[in-house]
Amino acid sequence: MKEYIMALDQGTTSSRCIIFDKGGNICSMAQKEYTQIYPVAGWVEHNPMEIWSSQLSVAMEAMAKLGINANDIDSIGITNQRETTIIWDRNTGEPVYNAIVWQCRRTADMIDILKNTPLSDRIRQKTGLIPDAYFSASKIAWILENVEGVREKADRGELLFGTVDTWLIYKLTGGKVHATDYTNASRTMLFDIHKLCWDKEILDYFKIPVNMLPKAYPSSYVYGITDSNVLGGEILIAGVAGDQQAALFGQCCFEPGDVKNTYGTGCFLLMNTGYTAINSKNGLLTTIAAGEKHDVEYALEGSVFVGGASVQWLRDGLRMIKSAGQSLEYATAVEDSNGMYIVPAFAGMGAPYWNPYARGTVVGITRGCSKEHFVRATLESIAYQTDDLITAMQEDAKVPLNSLKVDGGASANDFLMQFQADITGEKVNRPKCIETTALGAAYLAGLATGYYKSREEIKANWQLDTAFCPDISDEHRNGLKKGWKRAVKCALIWAQEGE
Ligand code: ADP
Repeated sequence: MKEYIMALDQGTTSSRCIIFDKGGNICSMAQKEYTQIYPVAGWVEHNPMEIWSSQLSVAMEAMAKLGINANDIDSIGITNQRETTIIWDRNTGEPVYNAIVWQCRRTADMIDILKNTPLSDRIRQKTGLIPDAYFSASKIAWILENVEGVREKADRGELLFGTVDTWLIYKLTGGKVHATDYTNASRTMLFDIHKLCWDKEILDYFKIPVNMLPKAYPSSYVYGITDSNVLGGEILIAGVAGDQQAALFGQCCFEPGDVKNTYGTGCFLLMNTGYTAINSKNGLLTTIAAGEKHDVEYALEGSVFVGGASVQWLRDGLRMIKSAGQSLEYATAVEDSNGMYIVPAFAGMGAPYWNPYARGTVVGITRGCSKEHFVRATLESIAYQTDDLITAMQEDAKVPLNSLKVDGGASANDFLMQFQADITGEKVNRPKCIETTALGAAYLAGLATGYYKSREEIKANWQLDTAFCPDISDEHRNGLKKGWKRAVKCALIWAQEGE
């Protein structure tokens, strides 16, 4: 049996490769940042060739560091930035335009128009998404409409579309395979997550020919074999999932009610809801969870726009701390936030409030407030926002939370994790391996090839680093949460008054 699994983790700012052994231990890692292209304010692009070359070079580097070659690798799992859109020529393999990145707002007007049509609600029902410029559909339409000669090529059936996973599969197989997985498909806003097929009505609205679209398969599935010239040998490509769904899988959130939160620049909270696709009443997204079967499992997803970014703001904007890690020192130097709340609604508030006009608010300042309180209140705001999402998910899913598993850069902050447990009133479990995104992709690949026999075998790999248990009274918790709600109200009222 081959010893290792290779995970390709194609993120928004860097391409990474991690090689895992069967125990889920990191044996080798390589990472490369690549160019962010901002042609116009609000627009974000990547060069697809640079995505590919950076990904290829880290794969080679990770193998070289470990002194292994393609023959030592059982299979490859791919995980990627979601929604980012690439269109290329099916004959030459040449992209017709740069990749339009998920963050890019260039199609916001297109979505505003769509939102005033009856299709908007049907998109919600069919795709589980709230129409937005983030998703691939309007980005594809933009390229078809605005890049010279592209519409004609599309009409002649000469173009292929892919999210980043599809682009990497295509390049890795030497152009032989044009495929995606259900989780990535579910972020295009073109995929019916109930029927598991591309939706004709939405495709027609955006004037996207169906022959451009990849075939969609389960996340754990043998997609193809790498061209032997690419990585110096043939390796099975057997796992594919969007980054957040890969992390949910890597955290072994296999049961309904299992939740993971990734504390990065923003926070991404996903709850496994089993075989039921739940329509959220609180503005959460319904999405497909990574799995190995055609009868897919679903998840609810919510995000905190400003998570770790608020710590960056303390460091770079307010210059209150020298490093993100230092926030722990200040936050724990005081007993509490001295009645102060910070709502970092720098660009509006997401679920469950959904108000684009809300703005950042600081309330409860008294003469006794110090920098320490300010830092503490900022960290606390990350936990309060996460808690709001958890409450919304529990209401929607009507299942109790099993446990909250955490990962991402800011999950290293023990104060934040303890405060999360206190506020949510649930145990917070931080695993030893917080590279859960790459790990999830590796697990999906290993399950498809038989490297892993079952999810149970994978579960045995999940190792606890620290469990944070709630340590405040219900009364104390309710008082704190009441204060947070009042602070949020202030951020929302500010928006109203501005209108
Ligand atoms: P991303 O993948 O979004 O770039 P990461 O998972 O690398 O994010 O996490 C980086 C974010 O976490 C930054 O916003 C940073 O401010 C925050 N962060 C990192 N370490 C800490 C820490 N010890 N305490 C609080 N926040 C932290």
